[in-house]
Amino acid sequence: MSVGKLVLVGTPIGNLDDMSGRAVQALKDADVIACEDTRRTRKLLTHFGIKALDLVVYNDVNEHAQATALAERALAGATVALVSDAGMPGIADPGYRVVVECVAAGVLVDVVPGPSAAIAALSISGLPTDRFVFEGFLPRKRSHRVDRIDVLATEERTLVLYESPHRLEAALEDLAARLGPRRAALARELTKLYGEVRRGTIEELLDDVRERGARGEIVIVVEGAPARTERPTPAELAESARRLMDTGLDRKDAMSEVARAAGVPRRDVFDALIDEE
Ligand code: SAM
Repeated sequence: MSVGKLVLVGTPIGNLDDMSGRAVQALKDADVIACEDTRRTRKLLTHFGIKALDLVVYNDVNEHAQATALAERALAGATVALVSDAGMPGIADPGYRVVVECVAAGVLVDVVPGPSAAIAALSISGLPTDRFVFEGFLPRKRSHRVDRIDVLATEERTLVLYESPHRLEAALEDLAARLGPRRAALARELTKLYGEVRRGTIEELLDDVRERGARGEIVIVVEGAPARTERPTPAELAESARRLMDTGLDRKDAMSEVARAAGVPRRDVFDALIDEE
């Protein structure tokens, strides 16, 4: 019996010339191609002259059942290729579950790496690229989004986020309010005709988006929090909070404001104030 495998195949994020020769070959060699949207993938296949005899849907809705079915087919000897609508499968796209199933079943899992918007955006953001965290999409619901941003507030590594154009303004508002004056970049429509990168503080980018709008596909890249060694001491945190309270701000808001500006959890400011009392 022939040995099957699963191959994750990266596809372009806009410019079809970014499709690699290996990606084309992997799709030609596959017995079955799993994709998010058959119409979209068929266009890609037609463009590259690839005849797909067996095209199956693997998406957010059927991911669990289909992952098992695909792993079984690979186990039975089929070469299963997985693509998403764009970029790398499994990166803010379906893919994780079938990899887990194949690994568990002892099926070989291979990759044909291709473009990914996160890496493309980070590389040209002008922000530190040596250490970064990829957060995918922030939660849609505002309260959840704010909670998530608060967790990220002390993260020292560069943040990479995906966002849809109609939630961009709201996301930038929350990022500006919770993270303070940090440098950031908006990478829009990368590899496409109107691709661009806007750079500035989060606040400046927010103003710009309000003024000029921002359509299409967008990655937000945000500078990480100041390094711990550069952060204020507890005495300095307490002093800053007291100064704000002296101006009439209530204790809770003063703590939040100081925590945000210093890139520390509010708990640290709270503890610093308690220690002084
Ligand atoms: N799997 C893809 C990857 O590897 O980049 C990501 C898929 S995710 C569903 C789609 C999001 O990726 C978009 O909302 C946008 O945030 C980002 N994205 C995809 N293509 C992009 C492009 N050409 N320019 C900027 N961002 C892009």
